[in-house]
Amino acid sequence: MREYDVIILGGGAAGLMCAAEAGKAGLRVAVLEKADSLGKKILISGGGRCNFTNIYAGPENYLSANPHFAKSALARYSPQDFIDLVESHGIAWHEKTLGQLFCDGSAKQIVQMLVDECPGDLVDLICGFQIEAVSQISPPSTHPPAQSPHTFKVVGRTERAAMDHGQDTASIFIAPNLVIATGGPSIPKMGATGFAYDLARQFELKVVEPRPALVPLTLGGEDILFRELSGVSTNVHARAGKTEFAEAALLTHKGLSGPAILQISSYWKPGQEIGITFLPQREADWLLDLKRDKPRATVRQALRDHLPDRLADALAERLGIERELGNVTDKQLRSAGQRLSDWRFSPTGTEGFAKAEVTIGGISTAELSSQTMESKKVLGLYAIGEAIDVTGWLGGYNFQWAWASGVAAAKAIADRPH
Ligand SMILES: Cc1cc2nc3c(=O)[nH]c(=O)nc-3n(C[C@H](O)[C@H](O)[C@H](O)COP(=O)(O)OP(=O)(O)OC[C@H]3O[C@@H](n4cnc5c(N)ncnc54)[C@H](O)[C@@H]3O)c2cc1C
Repeated sequence: MREYDVIILGGGAAGLMCAAEAGKAGLRVAVLEKADSLGKKILISGGGRCNFTNIYAGPENYLSANPHFAKSALARYSPQDFIDLVESHGIAWHEKTLGQLFCDGSAKQIVQMLVDECPGDLVDLICGFQIEAVSQISPPSTHPPAQSPHTFKVVGRTERAAMDHGQDTASIFIAPNLVIATGGPSIPKMGATGFAYDLARQFELKVVEPRPALVPLTLGGEDILFRELSGVSTNVHARAGKTEFAEAALLTHKGLSGPAILQISSYWKPGQEIGITFLPQREADWLLDLKRDKPRATVRQALRDHLPDRLADALAERLGIERELGNVTDKQLRSAGQRLSDWRFSPTGTEGFAKAEVTIGGISTAELSSQTMESKKVLGLYAIGEAIDVTGWLGGYNFQWAWASGVAAAKAIADRPH
């Protein structure tokens, strides 16, 4: 039986940050990680360079059933706090675009930094750990009610050791605080599961129906022709309902992807159309102006001047105006311009959790304190990171939430009388 002040389930972004903060506050911490190494999603993030924060991160960049929930934690641990940490480890970084900060070197530096931040004498980072059961030990009935020294019990075994030595490596961990940091089910190939939700339900916490987010959209029906343009990318404005993002869109052999589409996917509901503005820099009547300046030009040529050739050709074909501009009526050109500024697609679905960068939904924020991430029902039980129903935009916002929620939980646990 191994005793700690806090057991953290999951050694990803949020779990490691929480472990580091709790360890620095003098708490004894066990991080129980299922995978054979820590921070796997950090390692693959940002194309291997980890887009570790966004300097503009604020509550308005997050989706949640309660849009106010993220405010407190985000305000108390800012992007600048994480930049200071990164710089204190001598990690070089740069802003790529739109406030997105990346390592100059490798995402490995972020994982190493988080591990180095965990005091070795206080924080045990245990990988390859298969959790078999999590339970709550009844606290002794004392008056006034005191926190039980050993409220939570986690039983499991370390897989690799079991294979190496052929012996029973079952372990029991006990602690008064338990943090759920096992993330969401996006990218199951990497071992991601809905474990956090199962555990939440075990403790009778509500879970907001999870669905894939920051995910490519699939096309069918008439839109299927666009799939022939796989690999073509262009800057667009993409809309779902009232939400709009101005970034690049990429046509794929299944449908639509690229940053603008990934962003919009988090807001898109099945059955809903999305609107794409091709040529967002052009005025509404630009084709009429062009008709006056260059009456011998064609729509195809005009589009080719601003868009990749294959896309220009496909759009011109679908607009059905192949004549010289001088021979096209103003009405037709105006209508073509309008269509180009709000091209409607009817996605058939998304590419699912297999391709989703994050999960929308998760442990209901109504169950948790926004100050501490602690369950309102179960004293000493916390949830942080992607496991919770807080989902950021693309561009470093999700890691910022992982860091901020991890720190909020660690500080709350450290501030408790022990
Ligand atoms: C391809 C890709 C690229 C991304 N790029 C970025 C980016 O550049 N910037 C950004 O902000 N966000 C990015 N994200 C999102 C970001 O990775 C997540 O939002 C973030 O990792 C969430 O942190 P977390 O700690 O909650 O979950 P995770 O980092 O997923 O950590 C959860 C941990 O729990 C472990 N675990 C799961 N089940 C169990 C179990 N039963 N027992 C024990 N351990 C378990 C997992 O192995 C994992 O290590 C990206 C995501 C993907 C998939």
